[in-house]
Amino acid sequence: MTGLYIGGAWGPAADGATFATLDPAEATVITECAEAGPADVDRAVAAARAALDDPAWAELPAAARARLLWKVADLVEEHADELAELETRDNGQPLAVARNVTVPGTAEHFRYFAGWCTKIEGSVLPVSYPDTLHYTRREPVGVCALITPWNFPLMIAAWKLAPALACGNTVIVKPAEQTPLTTVRLVELMALAGFPPGVVNLLTGGPETGAALAGHAGVDKISFTGSTSVGRSLVHASADNLKRLTLELGGKTPSIIAADADIDAAVAGNVQGALFNSGQVCAAYSRFYVDRKRADEFTSKMAAAADALKVGPGLDPATDLGPLISEDHLMAVDAHVRSALYDGAQLVTGGRRAEGPGFFYRPTVFAEVTDAMAVAREEVFGPVIPVLAYDDPDEIAGRANGLEYGLAASIWTNDLSTAHRLAARIRAGAVFINMIHVPDAATTWGGYKASGWGREMGPYAIDAYTEVKGVWTHLGRV
Ligand code: NAD
Repeated sequence: MTGLYIGGAWGPAADGATFATLDPAEATVITECAEAGPADVDRAVAAARAALDDPAWAELPAAARARLLWKVADLVEEHADELAELETRDNGQPLAVARNVTVPGTAEHFRYFAGWCTKIEGSVLPVSYPDTLHYTRREPVGVCALITPWNFPLMIAAWKLAPALACGNTVIVKPAEQTPLTTVRLVELMALAGFPPGVVNLLTGGPETGAALAGHAGVDKISFTGSTSVGRSLVHASADNLKRLTLELGGKTPSIIAADADIDAAVAGNVQGALFNSGQVCAAYSRFYVDRKRADEFTSKMAAAADALKVGPGLDPATDLGPLISEDHLMAVDAHVRSALYDGAQLVTGGRRAEGPGFFYRPTVFAEVTDAMAVAREEVFGPVIPVLAYDDPDEIAGRANGLEYGLAASIWTNDLSTAHRLAARIRAGAVFINMIHVPDAATTWGGYKASGWGREMGPYAIDAYTEVKGVWTHLGRV
């Protein structure tokens, strides 16, 4: 049983409620977790508000804040094997992904933002009033609610915790109900690192816990990663006290394969781009626009590469693709596959559940997909690869931009002008040319249009977690 962490103390929910978290490879319960209710949300917000003004945090020198974040990175690395295995059990991702991506990505995020603590600066600006000194200060936004999804639980928690704390905010983190365990462990490690009580708080629970937190008048900012539909509800929930919002939402990343592309390299990259974490990635390449001259070759090679991947439990070292997160999610992915078949897409491989007690699904490739089909328009968030053909390169930016999403895009070509002309025309927060989607703490992550508001990572995260204040001083005699 795991608890809530409020004001520096662990404990159960006020009403004793709990929920179970499952191992998706075995479909068995791993443990029970405390389910925070409104009374716990009130207490966490009060603790975070008190910590905001506590000199132990508010007056802590920036260099000392940096050392705390650096210490978290060290502790994550010291506990790397344990965290990786826990992530694999709770989320299903292959252990190699947890070891080589999740855990190092988490540690690096804390180190990158440790570096920022001592570099958050204002400016002296040349206002036009005579005898006036004007400068800006960057100050913490306040109490930040950090609400995360289940697909990369530990890493996405770090994407929010590290910059929020680097900027001097206090936080309440609420992991997804499907995958709370690595966030619980991370918060234990953060407590060991020595943050003053109330600076970091943890509430576990589901949508109701998240909604209570999001609607709370004592919260100044929500940073949310999850579905576009919940993102929209948070816009409403934040209207009363006009909370600051960072929204990292859904996507439907187009991958464009030009006639001149190196098809074997494109297949290797796109299989990864589509199927990494079993396609449960917000930026997953999930609609493939291939020059008609290369479409058959690309499709058959993608199908062969997808078929060669071993689907199995994440803890098995031979596994390439782990399970989907839940039975419900598997049924939703399967419904997308059925709808593609109904719409007339041609199934090349997959299209069905794989054996096992857990929530395994075969990687699936469709040919003859058209822009109107739901499988080419809606986020599937699973191992499904719809291939569409194009005839005229000039039509492709318009087709890529034709959906409400704008998180990422990918372009495969050996022609520099094709690559950069398309990169400029596509309305998405990240464009990957001849490579798989990767996040990096040093640069922007976030979406255009219904893929979100604001940006995480890099200097953009500092903007997201600070308010800017202008200070005016009249220098003449009063
Ligand atoms: P979700 O929106 O269902 O849940 C995300 C989180 O919000 C969970 O912690 C959940 O408990 C909480 N929540 C649910 N309803 C809420 C409410 N009404 N108020 C407040 N909180 C609420 O998303 P999910 O299924 O966990 O994650 C998958 C989605 O996340 C996909 O759409 C994916 O594209 C998106 N995602 C986006 C990014 C990005 O960087 N843009 C990264 C990862 C995942």
